[in-house]
Amino acid sequence: MIAMKSPREIDIMRRGGKITASTLSALLQTARAGMSLREIDRRAERMIRDAGGVPTFKGYHGFPASICTSVNEVVVHGIPGDYVLEDGDLLSIDIGTTYEGYVSDSAASIGIGTLSPDAERLMRVTQESLMLGIAAMQPGGRLSDIGHAVQRHAEAHGFGVVRALVGHGVGREMHEEPQVPNWGEPGRGLLLRPGLCLAIEPMITQGAYEVKTLADRWTVVTADGKLAAHFEHTVALTEEGPRILTLREILEHPDAANYRPTAEIAA
Ligand code: MG
Ligand code: MG
Repeated sequence: MIAMKSPREIDIMRRGGKITASTLSALLQTARAGMSLREIDRRAERMIRDAGGVPTFKGYHGFPASICTSVNEVVVHGIPGDYVLEDGDLLSIDIGTTYEGYVSDSAASIGIGTLSPDAERLMRVTQESLMLGIAAMQPGGRLSDIGHAVQRHAEAHGFGVVRALVGHGVGREMHEEPQVPNWGEPGRGLLLRPGLCLAIEPMITQGAYEVKTLADRWTVVTADGKLAAHFEHTVALTEEGPRILTLREILEHPDAANYRPTAEIAA
């Protein structure tokens, strides 16, 4: 069953989404070489709680931290431990906040120091894929329009689209129906209607799309050891179109809430 959200519920999620966005923004801006992942996690938990939220991930199916930190070949669900960031690392941070009973979920990748041009391109294309997926979430469209837009852009650049993990509905629970694959033919599946809230989250790889889970039962890495990037937003569908509830105003273009793909990106 898909739990559609009322305007009142979307407003709560928007306020919670601001906590998620501002915390993620601060973490992305301060992460640097010499900093441990555990230190970033501690800062995240403090910031979320100080803002009146609860870190959704902490204790979720036993997850031991408030954020996921995924470095280089780690795709998602990396546990923030003792690893100390190094120049050239590609870091993905995934964060969820529960606020007044509703969840917002967001992720972004960033380079620590100087990244290789290939790694920079992977990050850029992954973020563009997310924005194109969001732009494809339109009233009257179909669920698979989103994944199709993501896949088309990522594969046009020669990258892999992870199949083993998907986006999801979000609201009272972090993971609600429907599942939101990052691939597929357009025009299939659920009819998109105002009130639908989704976490759209392309996980894009430099090489093949196969992944495996490490012995800690959380950390998901690329099977071929190549880099991965991950961007995610919580998005509400309104009569006017998609509305990003976790927009980071500092790091993203001010018009991103009304993002429309340019001909250049869509090609
Ligand atoms: Mg997430
Ligand atoms: Mg998610």
